[in-house]
Amino acid sequence: MSKMTKKVKSATYVSKFESIFKCPICEAWMKVFELKSFICSNNHTFDFTKQGYINLTTHPNENEVQ
Ligand SMILES: [Zn+2]
Repeated sequence: MSKMTKKVKSATYVSKFESIFKCPICEAWMKVFELKSFICSNNHTFDFTKQGYINLTTHPNENEVQ
């Protein structure tokens, strides 16, 4: 039995429902990647925080997609 961090627990949980998430930038479907981040089919990546939630905010410089 391995010790799961909140981050891994949360990523595991979310991976069961990953099909309901859409990328906030391009609205593509997203997948959990290596239980540590969320990645869409256009390679936009969002990390799980230590607290176990997903940081869906984007960096200002990456906000130029229109
Ligand atoms: Zn995307």
